[in-house]
Amino acid sequence: MKITSIETSIVSIPFDMHAPPQLFAGKPWSHIDTLLVKVETDAGITGWGEAFGHVVNQGTKATLDTLVAPLFIGRDPRDITGLMQEMQQTLHLLGRNGSVIYALSGIDIALWDIVGKLANQPIYQLLGGSNRRSLTAYQCLLRYTDPVLVAKNCAAGYAEGYRYFKLHEITREAFLAAKGAVGPDAHIMFDTNCPWTVEEAIRMAQSLKDDGLHWLEEPVWPPEDHAGLARVRAQGIPIAAGENAAGLFDFKSMMDAGAIDIAQPSVTKIGGITEFRRILSLADAYGVRVAPHSPYFGPGFIATLHLAAAMPSNPPVECLWMDAEARLFGDYVLPKNGQLPVPQGPGLGCDPDPAVLERYLIDGPTVTR
Ligand SMILES: [Mg+2]
Repeated sequence: MKITSIETSIVSIPFDMHAPPQLFAGKPWSHIDTLLVKVETDAGITGWGEAFGHVVNQGTKATLDTLVAPLFIGRDPRDITGLMQEMQQTLHLLGRNGSVIYALSGIDIALWDIVGKLANQPIYQLLGGSNRRSLTAYQCLLRYTDPVLVAKNCAAGYAEGYRYFKLHEITREAFLAAKGAVGPDAHIMFDTNCPWTVEEAIRMAQSLKDDGLHWLEEPVWPPEDHAGLARVRAQGIPIAAGENAAGLFDFKSMMDAGAIDIAQPSVTKIGGITEFRRILSLADAYGVRVAPHSPYFGPGFIATLHLAAAMPSNPPVECLWMDAEARLFGDYVLPKNGQLPVPQGPGLGCDPDPAVLERYLIDGPTVTR
């Protein structure tokens, strides 16, 4: 069995974030952009993947089209771990994080989709299986910088059935506003996106210490300051991080430093399902929990559901809370009552809707043969 072509395309779907539009990496954020990777084989089986992401999609797409995709043509799509090891080594001089690894992540997810379809099994069964039919979703709110809006949208999420909430805010006032808007059975996480020095983060952790925070995410700049993060963790608040980590050994360094309670690998950034699995084993050995980073709407989100389904710890799954004008997978994996279905079809279990692909396409398809 051989890979015959790899196609990349970017779709851009408008969304309503229930707040005034915000900037993301300096650009106005009004559309969810998804970089899709379609891998075709001589057996007639097609796999879909997603490579990170958002405003760096064009960069990742160029890396795929000009560098990474051609290396996979003619190779056996069933040799996933062998191919990923080989390509990581072949390409390592070009960056151990960023577009090269994002590109590999997208192809890796598509290869898992292919082997699942070939075996006529959902990916989570290939990963070890599970009897669960649903997963706990957490309501991931965008950054509003307005505690009144935080409270309003948390209350809306609570009414929809969510019991896990994640804020992208940086003030205790916002945290208390969320806490006041939901019931006592709610768990609130605080994602700060690396705003503070270690000393500032320690002061913040001390001020939040008795507020019942479920976790504090990425409080320290830069994210690779694992020793600094460990000093914040010593204040007694659960610390989560890892969406910006570079592979298995970056996570090992984080855990060796005693920096985290919760590891957050991101399947479209870290090297796909293959690298994510290695981090699961590592976390087990260190007694660290894993909660996937997954603010996606494409195959990366569905791949995350398969990974979460196969994890005995049943982690809460990140679900960006916004209304998109259209969805690549229709209502296939929509959260309901704070729960997400475990996808049951072969491979990812669902292919993107061709009509949505066509209507919202902004770049591509670019085909490598
Ligand atoms: Mg985060």
